[in-house]
Amino acid sequence: METEKIPRVRDESLCPCKSRLRYRDCCRPFHMGTAVPETAEQLMRSRYSAYFFRLTDYLVDTTHPDTKTPDLREGIRETLNHALWKFLTILGTSKGQAGDKTGKVEFIAEYYHNDVPYEHHEISRFRRYKGVWKYLDDKG
Ligand SMILES: [Zn+2]
Repeated sequence: METEKIPRVRDESLCPCKSRLRYRDCCRPFHMGTAVPETAEQLMRSRYSAYFFRLTDYLVDTTHPDTKTPDLREGIRETLNHALWKFLTILGTSKGQAGDKTGKVEFIAEYYHNDVPYEHHEISRFRRYKGVWKYLDDKG
């Protein structure tokens, strides 16, 4: 399992998604597959953390089948190999709650590429698939 490469000490320290919760109380159960996110924002945060930890499988698995292109894995790998993720700021959410079927999350993810800082600003769309939140696209 690819989560085995995450140092155990990480469980006690703060989650990379900047929730201010410990990793074990935040995104870890989602990465381990022992729980699924209740809200679109939780999925968004866990995907950011997955980029941080370079969990390619998790990023592929949490993409909605409607937008899961054949080259998705390759594209994620490319991003993982080139970006160093530094910070996540959630700017706002729309729906995406426990009783919703769709949701949007607006965020800024800060990263370094070749030692140059960048900001990725996106409004992600999320949609449930078989009851579970999945990332649809960035066309929010
Ligand atoms: Zn988290």
